[in-house]
Amino acid sequence: MAKSGGVSAPRGPWDPPQGAPSDARQRLAAAPSRFEPTAQAAWSRLRAARVHDYPRTRNHLQGAVTRLSPYLTHGFLGLQEALRDLRLRHGLDLRHKLIQELGWRAYFRHAWGHLGERVFEPLHEGVAPYGAYARELPADVREGRTGVAVVDRAVRELYDTGYLHNHARLWLASYVVHQRKAYWRCAADWMWSHLLDGDLASNHLSWQWVAGTASRKPYLFDAANVARYAGPAWHSPGTVIDAGYDVLDRRARTGGDCGAEPGMHAGVAEPPVHGVVPRDAGFAPAQADALTGCDVWVVHPWCLRDVPPGLLAVAVLDRDFHARWPWSALRWDWVLRRMRGLSTLRWSGSSAQLAAALRGARSLHGVADPHLPWLQRDCGLAMPPSGFDEPGRYCASFSAWWSRLRGFAPSAAPDNQECSTWRTQ
Ligand SMILES: Cc1cc2nc3c(=O)[nH]c(=O)nc-3n(C[C@H](O)[C@H](O)[C@H](O)COP(=O)(O)OP(=O)(O)OC[C@H]3O[C@@H](n4cnc5c(N)ncnc54)[C@H](O)[C@@H]3O)c2cc1C
Repeated sequence: MAKSGGVSAPRGPWDPPQGAPSDARQRLAAAPSRFEPTAQAAWSRLRAARVHDYPRTRNHLQGAVTRLSPYLTHGFLGLQEALRDLRLRHGLDLRHKLIQELGWRAYFRHAWGHLGERVFEPLHEGVAPYGAYARELPADVREGRTGVAVVDRAVRELYDTGYLHNHARLWLASYVVHQRKAYWRCAADWMWSHLLDGDLASNHLSWQWVAGTASRKPYLFDAANVARYAGPAWHSPGTVIDAGYDVLDRRARTGGDCGAEPGMHAGVAEPPVHGVVPRDAGFAPAQADALTGCDVWVVHPWCLRDVPPGLLAVAVLDRDFHARWPWSALRWDWVLRRMRGLSTLRWSGSSAQLAAALRGARSLHGVADPHLPWLQRDCGLAMPPSGFDEPGRYCASFSAWWSRLRGFAPSAAPDNQECSTWRTQ
């Protein structure tokens, strides 16, 4: 039973699994970049959140960030549940920085919901003409051998762990777009495919924000900024970013590719990315009549929460989505391990094949996701609630969206016990 300040709540179907370790904070401190693909690990991270230190330290690479993003992206737990838990345990409200950062995630989903495929195109003109940017990421960036320590370390960490601190993402993106003049879209696709938390809304809109095609100015940083927020191994004195903001800004608007730093720099091979479901993953073609008379829970890459009791868990992979948006082996392995652990039947196919087979079930349960819109459109699953009481009409900026929020959604209230049975609509 969860308790906080005298408030106690009975366990609901979406409460953390029994036995979430109480020493989560120590274990996570020992291996912060290890992401176990379990709901228990997701809830442990949430429970280990250092909410009092978060606002003051979150910009530091060693700050009190939660590293929850892979779990939120892949639906080990929902945003609404995280908000509810933070309110219940810590009494956080909309003024708290962690709630506002979670708000960014919801805002990007809001924007994606309204803009659709347009999030993959520049929302408006950038700071330099379209023709000023290369359509490919420079090889020395891909291989982490630019000679700029902050960039090369970020690339290695991305490949090794599938995770980067927000500040490291900002630095890497800013360098790539404004100093190396690579077009934000090709770089966004590259980063997305290596992130465990790759979310098409948060990722591509963040790249646009850095590039200045979603915001009014370019995001720029200098060597002093890195020295302030990162440890010595990241510091990059004497490199292209060791310049005044006026110089950095001029280069962003009018300069060409600055190139790698002079000299030879050791690199790493970019891990390959794969647009097909691995052959040995154990996913077969969907069977039209296999679900007759069954009550089914749909497991998919964006819904990896524990399966409610009494339902047949069917895991699905949409091969058209993966052909368009390839993943690193690290991400495939992480997602597949969880999908295999959760499901009884495992299918891959086109969205039409999967939807037709799922519709053969007596009842269908689960949570849709904008990465797979057909789950809502063709199977009637509801989109996950954000937990915020959001404005209905499109807001072109986070601040406009935030100022129009009516607060938390009633379903994210700490005392709400019906937080989440999602069924077919
Ligand atoms: C270039 C770039 C690409 C990004 N790509 C992704 C992505 O693919 N997937 C993704 O989830 N986030 C992305 N982000 C946002 C942010 O960097 C990550 O959400 C955050 O670093 C995750 O670490 P955390 O869980 O420790 O964050 P915390 O600081 O602990 O924040 C808690 C949660 O709030 C949300 N959040 C925090 N900051 C942001 C933000 N700026 N934008 C949106 N949500 C936020 C995340 O869900 C995060 O898990 C990107 C940012 C940049 C600059």
